Amino acid sequence: MEKWEQLYEGKAKKVFATDDPALLIVSYKDDATAFNGKKKGSIAGKGVINNRMSNRLMQRLEAAGVPTHFVEELSERETLVKKVSIVPLEVIVRNVSAGSFAKRYGVEEGIVFPSPTVEFSYKNDALDDPLICLPHIFALGLATKEEMATIIDCALRVNAFLKEFWAACSVTLVDFKIEFGRLADGTIILADEISPDTCRLWDAVTGEKLDKDRFRRDLGGVEEAYAEIMRRLLDHDA
Ligand code: C5P
Repeated sequence: MEKWEQLYEGKAKKVFATDDPALLIVSYKDDATAFNGKKKGSIAGKGVINNRMSNRLMQRLEAAGVPTHFVEELSERETLVKKVSIVPLEVIVRNVSAGSFAKRYGVEEGIVFPSPTVEFSYKNDALDDPLICLPHIFALGLATKEEMATIIDCALRVNAFLKEFWAACSVTLVDFKIEFGRLADGTIILADEISPDTCRLWDAVTGEKLDKDRFRRDLGGVEEAYAEIMRRLLDHDA
């Protein structure tokens, strides 16, 4: 597999073309941003952890019947993935109140929901990724009814799997964000990443935050939290 030119540089990853038009190489950076790029920094070793963690979780999801973009881990920061056209939605699943949910409804963090919620944000930096409802997704032609049914079903299956997986590591899966893409034939698959950048992960006993909220909220111990959550995943896999 030959790595060709860089196609795109995002906030946390770079994407390269390859000699196969159906495959891309994703390279994970240590750069960290929050609040739509208004807060910038770096988390040493984050790229390596996010690459390895996302790949392990996607392999497990694939085995559990959720189609993903994962093809092969090439190095500690680089992964070969299937090329997709991204559906411009952030799909957010919540099990426990936190973050923008707690702020929007004026409730404390930590309320366990009777069943998971699924919501969508329109991926648009200029608009600060606004919350969007299904009728507006259809009105804007961002995805079809059939595609959204597939996306919601996949998101709930990802949640059920990840919740159980992290519980076995003594971690509460509070919420997470995933993204989906379309293959050339229109098939919807899970793309992007699943990592402490995109999930809220709390120690099941102490409630300690083991995710990017440590960076967003200047809580300190950011690198240590990423290392700890990775250690728990590897212990579970061992
Ligand atoms: O901020 P909010 O509470 O809406 O975030 C919900 C979940 O989505 C969190 O796990 C957060 O890490 C993730 N998220 C993300 N990228 C964004 C917004 C939220 O990964 N741009």
